[in-house]
Amino acid sequence: MRNLNNHLHLCSINTATLGHRNIYKMIDAIASHGFGGIAPWVQNLEGQNIKKVSQSIRQAGLRLSGYCRSPYIPASHHTQFKKNIEANKRCIDDALTLGSPNFIFVVGSIPAGSSENIDSVRNQVQEGIAILNDYISDSPIVLGLEPLHPMYAADRACLNTLGQAYAMCQSIDPKGDKVQVVLDTYHCWWDPTLYQQIDMIGKNKRFCAFHICDWLVPTKDFLTDRGMMGDGIIEIAKIRSAIEKSGYEDLIEVEIFSTHWWQQDMNYTLNICANRFQSCC
Ligand code: ZN
Repeated sequence: MRNLNNHLHLCSINTATLGHRNIYKMIDAIASHGFGGIAPWVQNLEGQNIKKVSQSIRQAGLRLSGYCRSPYIPASHHTQFKKNIEANKRCIDDALTLGSPNFIFVVGSIPAGSSENIDSVRNQVQEGIAILNDYISDSPIVLGLEPLHPMYAADRACLNTLGQAYAMCQSIDPKGDKVQVVLDTYHCWWDPTLYQQIDMIGKNKRFCAFHICDWLVPTKDFLTDRGMMGDGIIEIAKIRSAIEKSGYEDLIEVEIFSTHWWQQDMNYTLNICANRFQSCC
């Protein structure tokens, strides 16, 4: 298990943690605090020159731990499904321009008001990821499938466990170098098979990203009340130990959706992230 003390270069900050402020201000703040990486979102780059953003990230000495996140894949009609796939292709093109090693998928689920069901949308996701896997066959980028906590199964993601994500990787990309799994502590901490899954997926070199935050008790909002590391009940250090033992040695990304932290000064939040990363993870 890596020593995180005085190793802030192993930590990446997901811009959602900072409430999606101006991309250049976030790059400067993250770099000046000594972090090693950044993970921007699609909306941070709207209206921006992506090449220029990429240059700024590199000039600041930061690496990219990921680019978030995919437009949802499932649709009520095939025409819309095709549009969703094209939208994902455009985002993947942007991820390549940015120089991100991966593009993160929150795959979507049952479209509002549709007659789809959980099985049919899972089939659509399987079909969509297979098409996008063909699309990236000659590109230096990985599709990162992020299973979300089952409380999001109806609307945000019909991919809900590490085992389910791993099975999809294996069936679409048997070699394992283009479609991989994202482990987010917030989504997976409760899984009774968590450590077996981490061991199997890690040993097969299928993890492309590791996201951390904590689960607050009580949680006031299931989307925007995620906790700072150390403030909740997730055994983050134990999970990190398992993923690193299985072979993961890339950046550890702090991703906290929280109205509480979004209201704070960005530098204050980054200070706390730095302290907790080194003491609680
Ligand atoms: Zn995540």
